[in-house]
Amino acid sequence: MANEAQVTFEGERAEQLAGSLRALTARIDAACRAAGRAPGEVRLLPVTKFHPASDIEILYGLGLREFGESREQEASGKVAQLRHLSRVRWEFIGRLQRNKAKSVARWANTVYSVDSDRLASALDAGARAALDAGERDTPLRVLLQVSLDADPARGGAYEAELLALADQVETAASLQLGGLMAIPPLDAEPDAAFAQLARLHTSLLAEHPQATELSAGMSNDLEAAIRHGSTCVRVGTALMGARPITSA
Ligand SMILES: *Cc1c(COP(=O)(O)O)cnc(C)c1O
Repeated sequence: MANEAQVTFEGERAEQLAGSLRALTARIDAACRAAGRAPGEVRLLPVTKFHPASDIEILYGLGLREFGESREQEASGKVAQLRHLSRVRWEFIGRLQRNKAKSVARWANTVYSVDSDRLASALDAGARAALDAGERDTPLRVLLQVSLDADPARGGAYEAELLALADQVETAASLQLGGLMAIPPLDAEPDAAFAQLARLHTSLLAEHPQATELSAGMSNDLEAAIRHGSTCVRVGTALMGARPITSA
């Protein structure tokens, strides 16, 4: 049984998260209004990487159902630990090695970081195995991650590869093409980067009209992303506080 000190600590964390969720929701609403968009057009994906499973339980209690994780091992542990949250949906947002695709395809609702034909094939095979084994009952939703500066170290498909990759995902039996994701280069001006991303999304939509998701914007640049059509902001720090250890 939890002792009194632990209960107090968890109560404080719950108040902290409830307060930052209210502030963040107000910030997203204000950004939508400023952009002339309805707040319902932009979904908040809380990013819980590096934070404990107990934080996810608190956020679930506050009504959130989707959680973004970026490291396969950490995420798989949380998935196993939080099976009792019956309506939870796991969103995998980090870079993914092909040898981890099978694991992620068991439990992820969406993978946001598909940037190569080989990764798409590995996820398709993993999702098919998970469907056959009854571990999932829907195709794996996939967003293509595009590179805005063609820096191979940062991940993301090159612009020139994007439409071929979309065609591949479209024809993969166990994948469903959901849209596009990008992380602007560190030194980029957010408005210019998100405007470039919006143009790429328009060209993707011309051939794949169901690829409506545009996941752009994090703690520091969500207003700019919302101005340029983001439908899903991925927010860690502004909701959870600083990560216990810094991410790579
Ligand atoms: C960590 C992470 C985020 C959240 O970043 P914050 O700046 O903490 O909001 C968003 N997207 C991806 C892909 C991440 O890895």
